[in-house]
Amino acid sequence: MKRKKVVLTNEFHETRITLYAQCVKSGLLRLSKNQVYRARHKLCWIADCTCGDALGARGKQELSFETEPQSNGSVLLEIIS
Ligand SMILES: [Zn+2]
Repeated sequence: MKRKKVVLTNEFHETRITLYAQCVKSGLLRLSKNQVYRARHKLCWIADCTCGDALGARGKQELSFETEPQSNGSVLLEIIS
């Protein structure tokens, strides 16, 4: 399965994580529930902090995307070109 490297950063906590997202189709990536969990805990570990998005990312990212949380806990990333 094809994967794409995604670096997520949180400018508030000065944290970052590198993940390899699944390529669903052109311009659309998926992070699994487990990857979302890892990202949230690495980027912002404070339970009631509201600094980040669905992934715990905040501020300008290497890759521009919109997050679409899914009911199964995974998150789709729609790449904005
Ligand atoms: Zn936070």
